[in-house]
Amino acid sequence: MDHFADDSDDDLPTLEESFQVALGGGGRTLRPQRDKGKGKAVEPSGSGHKEAGRRALGRPRDRGKGKVKAKATSYSWEANYKRSWDAVQEDESGGLAGAVKSFLDAAKRRRTAAEASPVQRGIIRHLVLILDLSEAMTDKDLRPNRYDLTLQYAREFVAEYFDQNPIGQLGILATRDGVAEKVVSMGGNTVEHVQALANKRKWEPRGEPSLQNALEMARSSIAHLPSSNSREILLIFGSLTTCDPGNIHDTISALARDGVRVSVVSIAAELKVLKDLSKHTHGRFGVALNEGHFRDLIFEAVPPPELEASDAMDARAMRKRRRTATQLNNEGVDGGSNAEDEEDDDEFYDGTDLLSMGFPTLLPFITASKATLCSCHSKFRSGPAFLCARCGAKLCDVPTDCPVCGLTAVMSTHLARSYHHLFPVSGYKAIRWADVDADSPPACFSCNVSFPERSKDDADVDGHLQGQAQGSSADGYAASSRYRCPKCNNHFCIECDTFVHDTLHVCPGCC
Ligand SMILES: [Zn+2]
Ligand SMILES: [Zn+2]
Ligand SMILES: [Zn+2]
Ligand SMILES: [Zn+2]
Repeated sequence: MDHFADDSDDDLPTLEESFQVALGGGGRTLRPQRDKGKGKAVEPSGSGHKEAGRRALGRPRDRGKGKVKAKATSYSWEANYKRSWDAVQEDESGGLAGAVKSFLDAAKRRRTAAEASPVQRGIIRHLVLILDLSEAMTDKDLRPNRYDLTLQYAREFVAEYFDQNPIGQLGILATRDGVAEKVVSMGGNTVEHVQALANKRKWEPRGEPSLQNALEMARSSIAHLPSSNSREILLIFGSLTTCDPGNIHDTISALARDGVRVSVVSIAAELKVLKDLSKHTHGRFGVALNEGHFRDLIFEAVPPPELEASDAMDARAMRKRRRTATQLNNEGVDGGSNAEDEEDDDEFYDGTDLLSMGFPTLLPFITASKATLCSCHSKFRSGPAFLCARCGAKLCDVPTDCPVCGLTAVMSTHLARSYHHLFPVSGYKAIRWADVDADSPPACFSCNVSFPERSKDDADVDGHLQGQAQGSSADGYAASSRYRCPKCNNHFCIECDTFVHDTLHVCPGCC
């Protein structure tokens, strides 16, 4: 059993998942978790509300440093796996490989099931990532410590964010010593962002964080954006305290009024103010249980957020108001750009929101000796450059909003890569043994790996585990290892299912 615990690979079932199964099968209550890393059992009185918060969530925080002192109590991960055996049935040879595989499959399915139905999403994103770099981030409860791990995940997040949101923009702020500092200003350059986050020395954690200063700074950089852009803040907060100049609730109301969505990942504990913040602004809130869960919470912000019906209505209402104010009379006609329409480039056409975009012209590479003035930095610059399709201003980088005429400048490839969010591949349905017959394909349509043969007691395992892991057989994992595309009816293996939905975004059978 040791190798499950030592291996913190993402592919293994997380403790939380096995814990859910354990509750479902055994129905027993949790034993108190031991304090992580320090080898002490947690006293009932609690050692600060951080531990209390963790205990209340029933999360395993054991890190294995205190092996010597605490031999009497088993580690929480051991306890979890022991309980989970209640729900697991051995296969014919008495092994548990089948049961472990079912956990893995269920976890993979859960990841892919999330993005199944087509919804309206705001793909022109503006997100501000706020990092708490206060002294609390030097805590070592996440390995190697909170600060290093946060920077590492933030770098991975930036890369993934720009990969999935080619026409999105990102800014990064930090808060320490009671003030907010700019790490990288809003932009679309992956290299610039990753480089800024690689500088560990410069962003050494110290002092107290200031939630309000950071939020106000983030708000001021996105509140002015036109309504067709999604305005988001992702806050990674490790401290239990904040040092604010005024009333934080005023800031929260201002964020809600400006339509900024704030999602919070707390590393320490569930704080009321953070929860209120995300609730009032329709964001997400999560407390990191361990390194893997921390990463998952951050990466939840990668796919573009769904537009709520009210968001779309608000945006339309706001545009209509502006239009009435400027007394435009060419509404509903393909009027292109109008002098009075510079404030917001959107068109209102037959109930549909349209947004004007331009494909800029790529200039021949400019050598250092022939540097020309750019409109975005107001500096003489060499290297690759573009010309705005509408006004002809020189731009250093796309995608961007032209600083002169406000036109959104994108490449057609950016648009193509954003497309899959709007029309996701429909979720594959798990196939039960009962539905597998002689006519079923013998191998995966995509990778041609043979599906397993049905053995005697598979039927029981099928129903038993599906109910536990997912609740419904349609979304759950299939013991038959077959997943069917609802459109082309081809059968796929779980690896291809995950690959199609996470990476490819096109069904190989349908296209
Ligand atoms: Zn420039
Ligand atoms: Zn322009
Ligand atoms: Zn396959
Ligand atoms: Zn298909």
